[in-house]
Amino acid sequence: MPTIDPIYIGDDAFQRLAAYCADSFPDLPITLVADTRTFAAAGDNSARALAAAGRAVRSVILRGDNLHADEYGIARVLTASPYGEALFVAVGSGTITDITRYVSFRLGMPFVSVPTAASVDGYTSAGAPLVIEGIKRTHYSQPPLAIFADPAVVKRAPAELTAAGVGDMLGKITAAADWRLGALLWGEAYDEAIALRSRAAAQTCIDSIDEIAQHSDVGLGRLMQALVESGLCMLDFGESRPASGAEHHISHLWEMGGLQDGGPQPLHGAQVGVATILVARLYARLRELTRGDVRRLLEEAAAEGRAGDVAEIEAAYGSMAPTIIAEHAGFLEMPAEREAALRSTLIERWEDVQAILSSVPEAELIERLLRRVGGPTTTADLGLSQARARSGFLYGHYLRERFTAAKLARLLGVLRYPL
Ligand SMILES: [Zn+2]
Repeated sequence: MPTIDPIYIGDDAFQRLAAYCADSFPDLPITLVADTRTFAAAGDNSARALAAAGRAVRSVILRGDNLHADEYGIARVLTASPYGEALFVAVGSGTITDITRYVSFRLGMPFVSVPTAASVDGYTSAGAPLVIEGIKRTHYSQPPLAIFADPAVVKRAPAELTAAGVGDMLGKITAAADWRLGALLWGEAYDEAIALRSRAAAQTCIDSIDEIAQHSDVGLGRLMQALVESGLCMLDFGESRPASGAEHHISHLWEMGGLQDGGPQPLHGAQVGVATILVARLYARLRELTRGDVRRLLEEAAAEGRAGDVAEIEAAYGSMAPTIIAEHAGFLEMPAEREAALRSTLIERWEDVQAILSSVPEAELIERLLRRVGGPTTTADLGLSQARARSGFLYGHYLRERFTAAKLARLLGVLRYPL
């Protein structure tokens, strides 16, 4: 299991970074990747500390607001980086970190993270969420070897980034419940200890929401720790399952649509937060079903078969449909025996399913928490059209071959929008 050492959050983060690089990579030149904002926030200080320690630093500073973790963003960092071996230092939040993570990984070079905002849980993870050929998914990559965060930098980050961090963390509530559904109904690999850690990290945010809203040192420290812990859960499990469920699939589809349109995008965590409210509402809807309802709904849905799914994918994904269909074969070409087993488990163990459904709080609580930190709570707040909001909610579950509340609702024929 890879380890990240140290994960340092403290006032002398830049000096610690320089000392770490001197100790661990004394001979490698350093390629520091930032955008203009994150360079001003922490890149300049990092470069100075490294230069003061006698290191050769080449800064790759990306300009413009429209930077995404996609082919273009990857190519920009790759072509601007000096040729040859280097230690990559990513100074930024999600996008810069994920691009640098991936570029360094593919070059076979080490990478260190200097987070500039408590906005996302990906700092400590190994996977890189990238949009490639229009499809967003997590690509195999590498975790940073070490992390150095200055709390003063995180504190100065725009409030919307902190609110996005809260949104990403609240998503763990539905992600954890989805994971348990996957383990019970679809036989997915599950690790109870990791699931509890991920859920506990989300609870820390809920319990500290007033401090986070005030941007106090304590509040931002707890949020950062929670985001780090969520990323470590992904790292320890080996994939994003502990931290990503239906709420992430919905947000990914929204994001893919936004990238096709071009222009500025809402922050990842902002989209996840709004999607979490919708998924919490879906959980409430599913809780209303009795075992008798489930039996009846399954009989009705059996008549339709999986042809309806293929038609939905083709309508929603257009030219990407063949890729989505191929990667969703486990569900679309489910053998009759497996489908029968799934149906009987659903009926026989409906109490156990209900217990999982009950672990997700009412949507109003998520909404209140997001409002408390000034985050968006509706798809309109995110600037999404009704059509895009609907498409993400109804068809996001086809993006991954994972079992979620959305998948359960689709199987029962009760996945509808608006809810
Ligand atoms: Zn996320």
